[in-house]
Amino acid sequence: MGNFILSIDQGTTSSRAMIFDGDAHVRAIAQQEFKQIYPQAGWVEHSAQDILGSVMAVVAEAVVRADITAEDIAAIGITNQRETTLVWDAKTGKPVCNAIVWQCRRTAEYCEKLKAHCGEFIYGKTGLIPDAYFSATKLKWILDNIPNARKRAEKGELLFGTVDTFLMWHLTKGAVFATDYTNAARTMLFNIYDLCWDDELLKLFDIPKKMLPKVQPSGSFFGYTHKSVLGAPVKICSAVGDQQSALFGHLCTKEGDLKNTYGTGCFLLMNTGDKPVKSKNGLVTTLGACVSGKPPYVLEGSVFVGGAVVQWLRDGLKIIENADDSETLAESVEDNGGVYLVPAFTGLGAPHWDGAARGTICGITRGTTKGHIVRSALESIAYQVADLVDAMERDAGIDITRLAVDGGASRNNFLLQFQSDILNCETVRPQTVETTALGAAYLAGLTAGLWKDLDELRATVRTGKVFAPDMKEEKRKQLLDGWAKALRQTQTR
Ligand code: ADP
Repeated sequence: MGNFILSIDQGTTSSRAMIFDGDAHVRAIAQQEFKQIYPQAGWVEHSAQDILGSVMAVVAEAVVRADITAEDIAAIGITNQRETTLVWDAKTGKPVCNAIVWQCRRTAEYCEKLKAHCGEFIYGKTGLIPDAYFSATKLKWILDNIPNARKRAEKGELLFGTVDTFLMWHLTKGAVFATDYTNAARTMLFNIYDLCWDDELLKLFDIPKKMLPKVQPSGSFFGYTHKSVLGAPVKICSAVGDQQSALFGHLCTKEGDLKNTYGTGCFLLMNTGDKPVKSKNGLVTTLGACVSGKPPYVLEGSVFVGGAVVQWLRDGLKIIENADDSETLAESVEDNGGVYLVPAFTGLGAPHWDGAARGTICGITRGTTKGHIVRSALESIAYQVADLVDAMERDAGIDITRLAVDGGASRNNFLLQFQSDILNCETVRPQTVETTALGAAYLAGLTAGLWKDLDELRATVRTGKVFAPDMKEEKRKQLLDGWAKALRQTQTR
């Protein structure tokens, strides 16, 4: 058996392939961006051909860079942007239209009505609060709007899948039509308690069951790639949604373990073991990754504007040249100088849920400098994550003592130190912040038997940096009060 794992990370703006060696360390990376398609305001699409083409290209490039062949690869793992919806011809694989991306708001109005009429019903089955993000209403839109789509779907001529399913179907030349629990759980069609496609939801959205893939544990044998892909067939041994992959990549496999990804937005996920926790604070309940058997439950909350506030400082306000400058500028001032920034650019997400809220900067005096503004922007990321952590602690009845982190903005040392201070808990950044690709690799390697168990994997982890809390309680309270006051100024209800 080969000694390497090929991990495919198909993200929202780029596709990445990474080769991990037997110690779970990175041997090679290849990455390719692809086009974002905005047909009208609020709509976002990807060309299915771009998704597939970029994946094939990065896979080939990574294999060449690692200087290995198909025989050296023990297994392939796949992680993907969640909820993005594809429908294709069951014979030819040709999509009937562009992929509708998770960010696309085309079904928002319909979802508002759904929320009002059957919000509780849907939440009770799926753990999700009805929203245009999830695949169900995107799939319904395709069946309702693409000529002949529903008729063909009913005859079994069309297939539905999230990106993992679409990739596996093509990598195996149509031999594998499957998905995993973590992706299925984000479609709003899957019952997370009975672990099956839900007939009542399929009826509600008018979706023929025959177009849905088989659902398996994230770490399990899916099938062999067609020999044309890598020159010889290779086992696909994992498929997992990106956020759950990152959770597994941090080895957050025990109840109470949690991680935060600081990307464009922030995604906080907590493993709640075999207990589905119903949130009273606007968090969603979903499924996590596992190797065979039953998946754990996960509590999830997201912040709309995380690292994106730094992009706004750079491209909107133009007060920094690049994202890394934000760290130096924030540290150039002693404290926030009483300035608080609330980046509610597109409303407030969990736990506040106020779509009409808009951002603010308050507490400005004659002495306020650009350092204070930049610092308040970075601090706002940490406050928003702290609000989510607080909601999770209350929902799960657990005191959090350690937060694992990853994502582009987790490079910022100031941000992570402030996060530790404001949460009064340790923040741990691994050496490899490519935790998403790592999670799919771990799952594939465990399934293929390259690694025996989680302990063997724990021994391979290289901790990058641990940030310990170092702030007086009085100061912490004063800052949190300042944030709460600023937040109130943005809220509309
Ligand atoms: P995504 O996967 O959502 O595209 P990434 O994980 O690649 O996001 O992270 C990109 C985000 O991280 C951007 O919003 C960027 O502004 C932010 N970012 C990158 N470097 C830094 C930094 N040094 N300090 C703060 N934010 C940063």
